[in-house]
Amino acid sequence: MPENHEIQEKVDDHMRDDTFEDLFEHAPCGYVMTRPDGTFVRVNQTLLDWIGYSRDELLSGMSLLDLFPAPGKIFHETHYAPLLRMQGFVNEIAFELVCRDGHRLPIVLNTVQHTDASGTALLNRTTIFNSSQRRQYEREILLARKKAEQALRLRDQFLSLASHELKTPLTAILGNIQLLQRRIANATSVSDRDRRTVDIINSQTQRLNQMVLTLLDTSRIESGQLSILRASVDLHALINRIIDETRATLEGRKIHVEYVSEMVVIQGDELRLEQALQNLFQNAFKYSAVDRPVYVQIRKLATYVEVAITDQGIGIPQTAIPHLFDRYYRATNVEHGGVSGMGIGLYVVKEIIELHGGSVRVESREGQGSTFTVRLPM
Ligand code: ADP
Repeated sequence: MPENHEIQEKVDDHMRDDTFEDLFEHAPCGYVMTRPDGTFVRVNQTLLDWIGYSRDELLSGMSLLDLFPAPGKIFHETHYAPLLRMQGFVNEIAFELVCRDGHRLPIVLNTVQHTDASGTALLNRTTIFNSSQRRQYEREILLARKKAEQALRLRDQFLSLASHELKTPLTAILGNIQLLQRRIANATSVSDRDRRTVDIINSQTQRLNQMVLTLLDTSRIESGQLSILRASVDLHALINRIIDETRATLEGRKIHVEYVSEMVVIQGDELRLEQALQNLFQNAFKYSAVDRPVYVQIRKLATYVEVAITDQGIGIPQTAIPHLFDRYYRATNVEHGGVSGMGIGLYVVKEIIELHGGSVRVESREGQGSTFTVRLPM
């Protein structure tokens, strides 16, 4: 290893030899001096090495414009030259130069125009930066983005196709199970164990059906085909029905409801509203311990009504809140917590509520619980 003072001596020698002329000729960028019509007056070695022309060739009447391909010539006339005339300089304009062997060199150039006292242009000084690596990098990013978008499209196409294909046999299975349930309800020869088995098959198939329907809804949202049919909806009756259904599937879970004194009727799609609220109820139970109750509060305000569903569950990290209604998004605390889900329920809830002209918001504290509030116009 050379000593420090030896290195210093070499640096000093090098600096003595490194004249301004050398700096101009071998700078890590191209230097060009041109007349106002673009003809070359001076050009440094770096640029000559990049483009493969000799100095004599360039200085015998060639113009910077001769190095531009047709689109570059047009861009020069429409942008570069007017800008230079107007403000006396241009910065970071991307061009391509046609090299002597015909290949294109992507560059970025900066030009300063020198004028006399009366403002007449005398010559232009231009620095030229080789941006081939940057362009390559940009092209790679663009390609990666295209590939990612294509993968997302394929995923969506697959999910849409799969959910469509699954729906038909599932509907047939569900219909037949329910038929079987009705038949064995009165039969005396069926054991309790077999009855329970059929009940389990029925509830699990319904769950599966629900997932497939939600997947189908996400495809509909993506293609702008989710729509609602408006009619008068009695909100209290709707919430009672949801609670009854929830109680049937979540035995022993406690729900406290706070109604308003008068009847609340809104214009909306009853089935879609039921689906959205049911989803929020299911989440409230899913993400809280079995001994924790869920609170439902209905509030009637001047022009809208609110339904707030509060749980005392695991809560949501603050960083997750802005993404909660995104498709396939699941917060980190549930990803590691072993609660299964597809991360599309809230995406569909938001769409349904917004189709009604309403909104959904969430307040939550990790470890303490969450409140999802649906606001609907009256
Ligand atoms: P899923 O429950 O199937 O994951 P959702 O779209 O219904 O999908 O919910 C998205 C995410 O929002 C959940 O994965 C979870 O991280 C969070 N989340 C929703 N509701 C609650 C809740 N009541 N308590 C805690 N986290 C919730």
